[in-house]
Amino acid sequence: MEKEKLRTRTLHHDRRLGTEAGAVHQPIHSSAEFAYSSAQALIDVFQGGPGYTYARQNTPTVASLEHHVNMVEQGVGTICFASGMAALTAVFLTLLKNGDQVISSRYLFGNTNSVFQTLENFGIEVVLVDACSVEQVEKAWQPNTRMVFAESIANPGTQIAHLDEIGSLCQSREVPFVLDNTLSTAYLAPGKQFQAALVVNSLSKIMAGHGNVLGGAVTDTGCYDWAQYPNIFAPYRTGDPAQWALSQIRKKGLRDMGAALSGEAAHKIAIGLETLELRLRQANQSALRLARFLQDHAGVQKVFYPGLGAHPQHERAKAYFNGHYGTLLSFELCADIDLQRFLNRLQVIILSTHLGDSRSLILPVAQTIYHEMGPEMRALMNIDERLLRLSIGLECVEDLENDLHQALVFAQGV
Ligand SMILES: *Cc1c(COP(=O)(O)O)cnc(C)c1O
Repeated sequence: MEKEKLRTRTLHHDRRLGTEAGAVHQPIHSSAEFAYSSAQALIDVFQGGPGYTYARQNTPTVASLEHHVNMVEQGVGTICFASGMAALTAVFLTLLKNGDQVISSRYLFGNTNSVFQTLENFGIEVVLVDACSVEQVEKAWQPNTRMVFAESIANPGTQIAHLDEIGSLCQSREVPFVLDNTLSTAYLAPGKQFQAALVVNSLSKIMAGHGNVLGGAVTDTGCYDWAQYPNIFAPYRTGDPAQWALSQIRKKGLRDMGAALSGEAAHKIAIGLETLELRLRQANQSALRLARFLQDHAGVQKVFYPGLGAHPQHERAKAYFNGHYGTLLSFELCADIDLQRFLNRLQVIILSTHLGDSRSLILPVAQTIYHEMGPEMRALMNIDERLLRLSIGLECVEDLENDLHQALVFAQGV
């Protein structure tokens, strides 16, 4: 029989992993500690044997979600965290050292940009480049380059870095490429497709999909040989090198830093994951239609969406993502549209941060999530003062179109 499609495997994941009494969902384990019947059994677990020590490192509920996310990303192992930021921070703080250099795309989620500033304070140099061209990454390369970082589709500008070429470059120079796959998810393209060593996903967004939970994950794709990496510490250089980075991230990044995912959150995320493909397909379709609608609207100056022919990386997006272009778009209002009046008039679309929810969400970027970074950095990142970020949900697309239209008309020329 042909291998089942991912959607089928996702729906049956929990049940097939094994449950009591025929339950189709994995149970929510609430125990913080795990008891053993002999001293030797307890010692074995602490020395790397199978089992659980303490919920800060893992629980059966979280382990089930890790297995699930790993299946979606086609990795060799996955670790879950309390949020996407916890996952990203764990990767940076456990795999980088004082004196190292990181090359990152400068089109970044604002909080990731803020973490990079923190890393600079610890003596890690972060060089931000226009990663839409691999030449810019290559130009920034130094003997101490230890990591290259990019987002699959950049939040909020929707730039698409030269992911396949960056992956090849990193592979040839034996440096791990870390990809934040949050905005596309593995359904558009697993990180492995671009030879990313590690893939980070915020599970709070499209993966869970309902705006009711936080979570994050790091997946090792198996593309990178960690035996070549100088920053794997001695205790983690044992056994299969494919697991070295994950062991270090779980111990240093999860056990020591403590941003563990709760069982309740893991359960909610697992339920959301079951409908990932259906939700994404619907929202992708709506996003393309709304992008075209906004592009043609007299009140809109510019639309950023990879599905539009005018997007600078449209052809690349088409090749990378199988004809899907994501569920996030951003647009700049014309000068004669009053920004606040427009936003206040919306009836369906919610004024809120967050993205990848089943409800559509909008926010003015420069005044909110990019406020702290200041005008200079915003200019470098192409963030106009009139830029709005719109995350497309699962509402009927006609209702979203009508909502945008009535608000644009209302806010024009006043
Ligand atoms: C939201 C987001 C994150 C952070 O995820 P949280 O779960 O909210 O911490 C990281 N990267 C990108 C691209 C995001 O959009």
